[in-house]
Amino acid sequence: MYLVYYSYSHVQVRENLSKLSTLALRNRREGLTKLLPPLGETLRGSLMERYLTCGNPDCKCARGERHGPTWYLSVTLDQSHRTGCTVPADQVEQVRRWIENYHRVKERLEKISDINRELLYRQKTRNKSKKKAQN
Ligand SMILES: [Zn+2]
Repeated sequence: MYLVYYSYSHVQVRENLSKLSTLALRNRREGLTKLLPPLGETLRGSLMERYLTCGNPDCKCARGERHGPTWYLSVTLDQSHRTGCTVPADQVEQVRRWIENYHRVKERLEKISDINRELLYRQKTRNKSKKKAQN
């Protein structure tokens, strides 16, 4: 069996947020919440393209012209469990779009988390310096 994996390489480039002003960070966070794709149209998994041989020695697939593609959605549930299902050709575009949406949402959430971590850190250091000033 021959498989083609559509892996989305969403390697996040982390920006150095410490150089941005608090206002800029808040504005950016605001923008990120507005750019979200429809949450109802998300799907986690990988779409795989399969080319199969049917086992008939007289078939063209035995000479290398395999049948296909057939599409398969593969989903990792946890470290030791996977699930999946075949995807009819007329659903492939939708599945592809939903998977892409999933990654976009995840990417946005990750960026929002980065911003919030930076904002928390600033809050903490601001409170510390306030306390110092009081003492
Ligand atoms: Zn065949």
